[in-house]
Amino acid sequence: MVINPSVAELKKSATLKITALTKKLVAEGKDVVNFAAGEPDFDTPDFIKEAGKAAIDAGFTKYTPSAGLPDLRKAIASKLQSENNISLEGKNVIVTAGAKYALYVALFTLLKPGDEVIIPSPYWVSYPQMAKLCQAKPVFCETDEKDGFKLSGKKLQECITSKSKVLILNYPSNPTGATYDRKELEEICRVVKDNNLYVVSDEIYETLLYDGRQHTSFAALGGAFNNTITVNGFSKTFSMTGWRLGYLAGPDEIIGETSKIIDHTTSCACAVSQKAAIAALGDNKWQGQVKDIFAARRDRLWKGLDPLEKITPFKSQGTFYMFSDIRKTNLNSFDFSQRLLSEKLVSCIPADAFGKDGFIRLSFSTSDEQIDKGIERIKDFLSSL
Ligand code: PMP
Ligand code: GLU
Repeated sequence: MVINPSVAELKKSATLKITALTKKLVAEGKDVVNFAAGEPDFDTPDFIKEAGKAAIDAGFTKYTPSAGLPDLRKAIASKLQSENNISLEGKNVIVTAGAKYALYVALFTLLKPGDEVIIPSPYWVSYPQMAKLCQAKPVFCETDEKDGFKLSGKKLQECITSKSKVLILNYPSNPTGATYDRKELEEICRVVKDNNLYVVSDEIYETLLYDGRQHTSFAALGGAFNNTITVNGFSKTFSMTGWRLGYLAGPDEIIGETSKIIDHTTSCACAVSQKAAIAALGDNKWQGQVKDIFAARRDRLWKGLDPLEKITPFKSQGTFYMFSDIRKTNLNSFDFSQRLLSEKLVSCIPADAFGKDGFIRLSFSTSDEQIDKGIERIKDFLSSL
């Protein structure tokens, strides 16, 4: 066989595929309502763009140290200390080309072939595929609406075997928008420690939390730091998806080893983006404004969909996604999404990509006008069934 079986068996990313198809239809002039978007619809703030332009003009266009610019690693460490209560230093942070790569590097550092990775389900599309790339086995720990799509210590315990090595947590969650409070995390943490698991905690949507909820970082819990790799990035919170900048942070013992993977794969993250990221961390007023806008959009979409028969939206606690139950239509997720796009020009992500058939993910990262138009079209579609 020419192709490495670990690669041959990989699935394409449904989120990237449908996002690209939606963008193509829009570029062709089709009046598509884009509820598929996995990125903020806002432009990168001007002060960040200016820092990027200044870096180019100053000729800051060469390789940086592979773990990232020392000033950026320091700035990330002080953000993690002051906002997330994680005590660490710049040397505990590695800057990567996007949080997606940080996740992959974190998993690749920890896993050996045959290890099990516990993934609460529904899950973000890339986690099981990344586990497989590491020749590890994804083990899904099912959650449902009754539990608010959340893992509990008890459920976690049931998924643990002698091969379990890593638990991937993602909160607020893509795709469900669910998040955990400190007490819930502490319960999970006790099970993690009792079983000597490692946690890869993907907190990329941490600033997008609604109704006064506060984010607690897993690594900030008592005794969790040495077993946790925190992953985050600039894509969602600063609307910088195309700049490809993320990071991972954790104890010396793990992070020291991780940087070797960067040395021999990407060399470093984009120099210009790293300068822009230093500027981004210097001013988080923008994040507050964006969060208020997203909170209002979430309410708008939820109020529009909730009264409809045949669809039950789950009111997101964070992120810009609304997970919705479409089982009353008797269509599977894929057919529902395909028909909604072809018959009504509304794109969304079928949640079988997230391990939950019978559900769809609607992104409210779009304008109020588009949200209203989308609700009307979904209403028409449901009544045509
Ligand atoms: N984690 C989650 C849950 C995400 O939704 C995304 C968005 N693609 C990422 C990680 C990766 O973000 P990026 O690579 O753009 O930093
Ligand atoms: N995180 C986004 C999403 O879930 C972007 C697409 C991707 O990186 O997979 O749609």
